[in-house]
Amino acid sequence: MKRLLILYTGGTIGMGQTPQGLAPLPGLLPQQLTRLARDGVSWEVREYAPLLDSSAIGLADWQRLVAEIAANYAQFDGFVVIHGTDTMAYSASVLAFALQGLAKPVVVTGSQLPLIHPRSDGWSNLADAIEAACQEDLHEVVISFNRLLLRGVRARKLDAAGFAGFDSPNAPALAQFGIDVQWQRHLWRRSTGTLRVMLPAALDIRCGMLLPGAMAGAFGRWLVQDTPDAAIVLSYGSGNTPADADLLAGVRAATAQGCVVLNLTQCVRGAVAVGAYAASQPLAQAGAVAGGDMTPEAAQAKLLCLLSQGLSAAEVRAALLRDYCGEMTISA
Ligand code: ASP
Repeated sequence: MKRLLILYTGGTIGMGQTPQGLAPLPGLLPQQLTRLARDGVSWEVREYAPLLDSSAIGLADWQRLVAEIAANYAQFDGFVVIHGTDTMAYSASVLAFALQGLAKPVVVTGSQLPLIHPRSDGWSNLADAIEAACQEDLHEVVISFNRLLLRGVRARKLDAAGFAGFDSPNAPALAQFGIDVQWQRHLWRRSTGTLRVMLPAALDIRCGMLLPGAMAGAFGRWLVQDTPDAAIVLSYGSGNTPADADLLAGVRAATAQGCVVLNLTQCVRGAVAVGAYAASQPLAQAGAVAGGDMTPEAAQAKLLCLLSQGLSAAEVRAALLRDYCGEMTISA
C-alpha cells in the first residue's frame, strides 16, 4: 500500500461558484478526491487555510510547504501539492531547490477548469499526479498537467486559457500519460544522499524585463538607488542588451555592493550565451552572471534558496553556474 500526503493550497481546481464568481470553497476538494480512490493507494489530505488563489503565494507559504514535506518525509511514499496554476512553476521550483537530496516524488498539480465544471481537466491532472506520486524511483519535484509530467524547475505556465497550460520548453517531458503511460525513466534524476533542506528566507529579489528605449537606463539607476539582494535582468535573445551607460553603471555598482545580478533571456526557448553576440559582453563585464537556459521561475528559487544559506555573493555567483536539480543545461 502506497501512502501519499496531499497538500491542498488552493487554486481553480477546488473552486466553487460564489455570488462574487469562482472562489476556493473549503472542504470541497477533499470530498471530491474520494472519487479517485483506488486499490493500493491511500492518502491524507491537508487543506490549507485560507485556500489561496496562487497569485497570492509568498514566502510564508513556501516555508510551510517545505517544512511540511520535510517533517512528513519518512511517513509517506510520495507527496502531491495541489496549487493554482498562476504561480505553480514558481512554487515547484522553490520546492525543488529547497528539498535537496529528494528521493521521493513531489508532484504539483492543479487545473484550468474547476472540478465542479463538467469538462474539468482537474480529474485527469489529479489522477496522473497520484500515479506519478506512487513511482518510487521518481526523485524529483514535477508538475503533472494536461497528460504531461514536467520537471518542476523547467516548467512554465505558457497558456492562461488552454488546457495545455504548461510546458518545459528547454527540457523534454518526464512522462506522457496516454492509454499507456510512457515513463521516460532514462531522464529521471537519481538521488544519492539524504534530504537536506535549504529553507528560503526573506530576501529582496527583483526582476526587470528590458524594453527598447529608456527603460534599460531606468533599471540601472534603480539598482543604484535601491540595491536588492539579487536582480534578474531579462535581456534579449541570447543575452544581449544595449550598452546603456546607466544600465551598466547600475549593474557594476550593485555588484560591488554584494547584489547578485543574473542575466536571463526573455525568450521562452534557448539560452543566454555570452559571446555569441558582441552585445552580450558589456553586461557580463559589468558583473552579471549568465543564467544559461534557466527559467525566471527557477532562477528566483535558486537565488532565494542559495542566498538564504548565508553564502557570500561571490559564492552564490559561482553556485549559480552549477546545476542543482536539472534546472539548466550545462554544455560540455
Ligand atoms: N488564479 C488561479 C490560481 O492560480 C488560476 C488557476 O488555478 O488555474 O490560483
